[in-house]
Amino acid sequence: MNEKMTRLQIKKMVKLIIGVVFIMVIITGFLIYSLSQTMNDSARKQMTIETEEYKNRINKQIESDFQSLDTLASFFTSEMIEDRDSFARRLDTSNKQNNFRTMAFFYGNGSGIVSTLGLGVKKNMSYKDLNEAVHPVIEKAFEGEKSVSRLFKSDAIDGRVFAYAIPVYIDGELSGVLMASDQIEIFSDIINGNTVLGGNGYLHMVGTEGNFLVRSQNSVVKEKISNIFDGPYFDPDEVDVLKQEMKDQKKVFSSFMYEGERYQVLLDPVGLNGWYLLCVDTLQDSNSSIYPVLGIMGVALVGVALIILFLLIYGFRMVQRNNRELWHRAYHDSLTGAKNLPYFNQELAKRLMEGRKLSVAALNIHQFKFINEIFGREYGDTLLREVKEVLDQKMREGEFFARDKADLFYLCLLDTDREQILTRLQDIMSAIVNISSHHHNNYQILLYCGVASNEENNKDVTPLMTHVMFALTTAKGSYQNNVWFYDSDLHEKEKKENYVESHMHQALRDGEFQFYLQPKVDLRTGQLKGAEALVRWVKADGSMIYPDEFIPLFEQNGFCTKLDRYMVECACRQIRQWMNEGTEPVGISVNQSKLLFYENDYITTLTNLIQKYDIPGNLITLEILEGLAADHVDELNHKISLLQEQGFRISMDDFGSGYSSLNILGNLHIDELKLDRGFLMEVSDGRDARARIIMEQIVQLTRRLQISTVVEGVETEENEKLCSDMGCDLGQGYYYSRPIPREEFNRKYMEQVQ
Ligand code: C2E
Ligand code: CA
Ligand code: CA
Repeated sequence: MNEKMTRLQIKKMVKLIIGVVFIMVIITGFLIYSLSQTMNDSARKQMTIETEEYKNRINKQIESDFQSLDTLASFFTSEMIEDRDSFARRLDTSNKQNNFRTMAFFYGNGSGIVSTLGLGVKKNMSYKDLNEAVHPVIEKAFEGEKSVSRLFKSDAIDGRVFAYAIPVYIDGELSGVLMASDQIEIFSDIINGNTVLGGNGYLHMVGTEGNFLVRSQNSVVKEKISNIFDGPYFDPDEVDVLKQEMKDQKKVFSSFMYEGERYQVLLDPVGLNGWYLLCVDTLQDSNSSIYPVLGIMGVALVGVALIILFLLIYGFRMVQRNNRELWHRAYHDSLTGAKNLPYFNQELAKRLMEGRKLSVAALNIHQFKFINEIFGREYGDTLLREVKEVLDQKMREGEFFARDKADLFYLCLLDTDREQILTRLQDIMSAIVNISSHHHNNYQILLYCGVASNEENNKDVTPLMTHVMFALTTAKGSYQNNVWFYDSDLHEKEKKENYVESHMHQALRDGEFQFYLQPKVDLRTGQLKGAEALVRWVKADGSMIYPDEFIPLFEQNGFCTKLDRYMVECACRQIRQWMNEGTEPVGISVNQSKLLFYENDYITTLTNLIQKYDIPGNLITLEILEGLAADHVDELNHKISLLQEQGFRISMDDFGSGYSSLNILGNLHIDELKLDRGFLMEVSDGRDARARIIMEQIVQLTRRLQISTVVEGVETEENEKLCSDMGCDLGQGYYYSRPIPREEFNRKYMEQVQ
């Protein structure tokens, strides 16, 4: 996992966890809300049920009061009410029995008897003398309607009272009005008598303005307030709305805080005189403890989620740090802190893919191994660190470098201009040399560099790196040039040479060296007079390597002797085949390398071959090179004569191509002279008349010495005519035929001869 991916993962996780925390908070909030809602709902329901119950009781009380009045009235007779005195006594007694405050009976004219507890009876009193609040009730009763008055302050007693009045019918006629008044406190028994909400609540009875009518003894609010709006029950901002709602006799749910607790409240109209029951639910007390629990739970949940988040981030950070460390280790060289080869290759691949023009340089220190051995590893390490420091400073924007192993540094330079690169590398090298010279003044380190550029817009790393290494190897070998640029031709040549050297033995074994023949033709008659054996290396894949590409190398490494012997044997075998077939054989010339002549068993080997194939030696011509004669003419002549004794013919090849002198012709006992292709080229060119003179001289000389002449490189009819005019014997060249495989040669020439 790389850095980017880890970061993405972390981001994803953080988002996920934040999401989870968010959802948890919402769920917790929702839970708290819905729980409190449910509790509120159930509290409200409870309160409603409770107030309904109490309203019933109040109404029942009033009802029973009316009933008492009704019952009383049903016993009234005309006679009874006419006797005012006795009726007044009766009323007074009834009043005492029924526990009313006041009882009164008013006759049709509005005057009547009024009995008030503790004040006695007044026998002739107009109802108008009573408190105003009572007037409408009495008037309604005169109209045949029962009703209850609003509360009023009684003159007679301390406290508020209310009055009831019913019409009294005797013998079906409205005969008067029976009235009773009672202290509001009669409801105290109702309100305080039973436990409200099963002991978890209380009730007050209040008027439309919010004034207390009957106070509960169980109130949680301790302050003696006269109006509910003066206390903590309602928010002062709500008061106006509430008052209006109460006027409209609406039911109101609310809640209030008191001494740190929240209570649910219900204001429920009694349905009588605008009176209200104020119900307070004190059960909240115990229930409210669930909120902190829920709160704590929520906080705990969020806390846990945050801890998980923290742990995850921490874990990721650790992984990231580890990754970074691993990455650092994977892409850095521990000794110098520079980047390493895998990093270099990776970056290089990226740049190449982008199509950047760049060069790679490989930097090395001459004899670093010995520096380590002589001055110690520590010094070697310091040196490498210094190289890294210099490179750190010298690299430009977008460029990079790495240390591979030992003292091998790779530099990627964003430039392909050789001059520029050379200047930069020399600057880098001198900077390195200047630093390191501080340590060991007596030893000046020497650096060298190989450079390869991607001029062909190559996208592949491998060839570029191979070229750099090739250039570095070349740079190492050439002391005069400490920066070497990769040269593709040179590299190709070296590659081929490598192949040749490493495959020659196998090629000889596998018959990859093939025997080609090129005809030698009589210039006068045009008849085939012989053939030159020329080797061709045909690789397994069918491709061909020409002798120029491997003979010089084989001459250097000595393999030529083996190859030449092989070719001689091929020639012998071919002649044997012709003889066996009854074909008139022609002589075959075989090229012989210099080395062969210095081999002790050379002559024996050749002799053994002609004996083995049982062929006359004069059918084999050995082509030797003029350079052989330069040093030891006598020794050479001796060998030549030994070979000639065995019947072999000796030909001097490439005459005129090197330092040949005409003297050689006189001194060497050769049978044939092959004039180098260059002669013919010069003569046929016609520009230099001397060339022709020289060639004619040579031909004349060979005639005199009885050496036959072969002209190489006859390519045209004119060439042929030129040569025959000059008196040459044989011609060889593309005009007649290119060197061709043995089988083709046989088909073309040997069947004709037959
Ligand atoms: P060489 O001995 O001088 O062989 C003649 C070369 O000239 C041959 O090249 C041949 O193909 C080429 N040639 C022939 N006629 C013409 C022509 O009309 N025009 C031109 N332009 N070229 C012509 P090849 O076969 O490539 O051989 C090159 C050289 O390699 C030979 O030069 C010879 O020195 C050496 N060589 C070839 N085979 C052997 C071998 O088996 N052993 C040794 N030691 N050297 C060999
Ligand atoms: Ca030759
Ligand atoms: Ca030649």
